[in-house]
Amino acid sequence: MNNSIKIGSTIGIIGGGQLGQMLAQSARQSGMKVIILDPQKDCPAALFADGQIVADYSDEAAIRKLVSKADVLTYEFENVDLNILEKIQNKTLLPQGTHLLKITKDRLNEKNFLKNLGLRTAEFSSINTEKELKNALDEFGYPSYLKTCEGGYDGKNQMQLKSTSDFDKATTILQKGPCILEKKVIFKMECSVMVGRNVDGEVSVFPVSENIHRNQILHESIVPARISEKLQNEAQLIARKIAEALNLCGILGIEMFIGEDDNVYVNELAPRPHNSGHYSIEACNYSQFDIHNRAICNWKMPEIKLLKPVVMVNVLGQHLEKVKALVPHNEEYHFHDYWKTEARVDRKMGHVTILTNDIEKTLNDIEKTNIWD
Ligand code: AMP
Repeated sequence: MNNSIKIGSTIGIIGGGQLGQMLAQSARQSGMKVIILDPQKDCPAALFADGQIVADYSDEAAIRKLVSKADVLTYEFENVDLNILEKIQNKTLLPQGTHLLKITKDRLNEKNFLKNLGLRTAEFSSINTEKELKNALDEFGYPSYLKTCEGGYDGKNQMQLKSTSDFDKATTILQKGPCILEKKVIFKMECSVMVGRNVDGEVSVFPVSENIHRNQILHESIVPARISEKLQNEAQLIARKIAEALNLCGILGIEMFIGEDDNVYVNELAPRPHNSGHYSIEACNYSQFDIHNRAICNWKMPEIKLLKPVVMVNVLGQHLEKVKALVPHNEEYHFHDYWKTEARVDRKMGHVTILTNDIEKTLNDIEKTNIWD
């Protein structure tokens, strides 16, 4: 393999939340050094890194400093400053490039990209004015989803329009900038596939994760997803197709719906590790974080094997103390603490991974704890 980054080199990560933390843990385990750039001193990732630059994500001088200390640069979230990355990308090794971010930053670009690839998505329309919204609603009907093109996550900056009476509320979303209207997909399951690809074009595809949300925040991931093998293969093939079309380098999360019509609809792309891939730390031969680091370092990409079925459950601020009290008495719970200083309601504070031969029983046991009511 040409151009592979040597063990002992330094990975610079823009962003120091839990995704950066788990990237750092994986990198250090394989003999790499890590420097984090994040405005919060001792952020979750910095606690596991060799060093931190305390600065804003859009501080160009600080990013240049990171570049001068790192052999390869990456990011843990998609809202990095594209202008700065474009300026510095020749001066350092940014194997992920900026092309992927340009597509995924904007929901309209992303949907058009998927459509041009011949993949199925929700019907969608670009919306900039109330008139365009009205016309699109006349076409799609209710319910439909209005989402800002940029800057939304965990259901933020979007709303479901259930009837004409929601029109006025929707205009507040429209005021935030360009939007997209999506017809509601009638789905029986939400799922996702993580896919990694290295500089040489080798691909690793993870198994399909079934995702259960509560209040639009991921609650549980179940792997393998409880769908037919045919649908699982189809979802994985779609992931590979997207990775190749994007000339992907690094890890990508692909959110999908399995329609009531048994079709796979692609919903969203996340150009980074994804919450629904955390199960892979214990349940697979390589985690999504291992694969991301291997990909950007251009190391050989392995075939991903699921070692055991698994349930991953998120620990939000309101669950944290109860989970911490339970973990010492429950040998099945692999608890990951993100070491965040403030446990706010609905803030992701950690997760628990449970390997199991009986998914239904494990889901019931989780319910019975009454922690996640
Ligand atoms: P997103 O930010 O696009 O991931 O949307 C957040 C959540 O809203 C998804 O996980 C779905 O539960 C729901 N949702 C968004 N768009 C649609 C759609 N077009 N059809 C059905 N459900 C949707």
